[in-house]
Amino acid sequence: MKYQFANNIPESDEDPVGNILKVAGDPKVISFAGGLPAPELFPVEDLKKVTNEVYDESGRQALQYSIAAGYPELRKQIAKRMNRSGIACDIDNIMITTGSQQSIDLTAKLFVNPGDTVIVEQPTYLCALDVFRSYGAHMVGVPMDDDGMKMDALEKAVQDNPNTKFIYTVPSFQNPTGRTMPADRRQKMIEIADKYNVMILEDDPYGAIRFAGQDVAPVKTFEHDERVIYMSTFSKILAPGLRIGWIVAEKNLVKKFTLMKQTVDVHSDNLTQHIIAKYLEDFNIDDHIAKIRETYRRREGIMMDAIEKYFPKNAKYSHPEGGLFIWVEVPGVDTQTLFNTCIDHDVAFVPGEPFYADKVIPGTFRLNYSNMQDDKIVTGIERLGNAIKETISK
Ligand code: PMP
Repeated sequence: MKYQFANNIPESDEDPVGNILKVAGDPKVISFAGGLPAPELFPVEDLKKVTNEVYDESGRQALQYSIAAGYPELRKQIAKRMNRSGIACDIDNIMITTGSQQSIDLTAKLFVNPGDTVIVEQPTYLCALDVFRSYGAHMVGVPMDDDGMKMDALEKAVQDNPNTKFIYTVPSFQNPTGRTMPADRRQKMIEIADKYNVMILEDDPYGAIRFAGQDVAPVKTFEHDERVIYMSTFSKILAPGLRIGWIVAEKNLVKKFTLMKQTVDVHSDNLTQHIIAKYLEDFNIDDHIAKIRETYRRREGIMMDAIEKYFPKNAKYSHPEGGLFIWVEVPGVDTQTLFNTCIDHDVAFVPGEPFYADKVIPGTFRLNYSNMQDDKIVTGIERLGNAIKETISK
């Protein structure tokens, strides 16, 4: 059968990142390629306990169909957390999603016509690029420095693209760079969005995982007229397999999101929503997040020390104060060649190329430290350092 796919379905079945993860999945390889949270920190026993309570106390309700906006008790708990982070909202501002990946997809579904411009950080979260591409968006990348998106370049990009629908930003501990936008830049981003009347999509899965420095308020706290759609998730603060995230937006916009969501999956898994709501009621998730921060602080520190020891002196790298990733640039290195050499050395990373909407900066790659035991981080970075030196001298 020759299938007649819709216009924006990619012709190729190539999955370059999937292939990398497959190669990196060999047990003898020390892989810094994935973006997985540390599974040993998942609160398995606590979740087991609350799951049993949900079955005992409200099993029939939790197993029934529910409303697309999400379980009100869970939305209430999320609203409480959001207000504490400075985002003023109540439960009508919140819709539960099947993870932030769905939040990104629903936003594109609501706003992007083929040919509309979506402005993104350069580099950015590659599965967001895949979403925008699938709706036929014209993506424009804005260069970054150590403090995230450069605001003069952002303003120029918005000016040059009058059909811009929104700016997509991961302002805290960005995937893939680990960089964070300081408050003055967040404010400036709002000024630009106000001036040119564009929306902002603030994707914040990592903001709670700060292990150094001072908290920075979400971009949404700087807005004047509810132009920011904020999204976060339980994937990094509880467990990604639960597949529960949320959107915070203006109430009428949440109604539109809800209509869109109904067409996709009716509602997110109701049982899981009950389990998380019960968990938030019975346990202090901030105590749990503190353990995650502590572990990632230690692992990031170990990786950073090893990078300083084993990488060549011309290597540049980000210094994240939270999140899961360090971004490296080794000028003059072809990262695909480096990747192949690394596999010979039993170590892996993700090359930078797929994270760019356009204008790739060569020699860049992402390292993940959250999902690797401390001693293996040192061994892996030593191997990687050797592979870099070998690739440079070839
Ligand atoms: N946005 C960013 C920036 C991410 O890094 C990820 C996951 N790695 C997601 C969204 C998707 O998260 P979720 O598991 O909530 O779908």
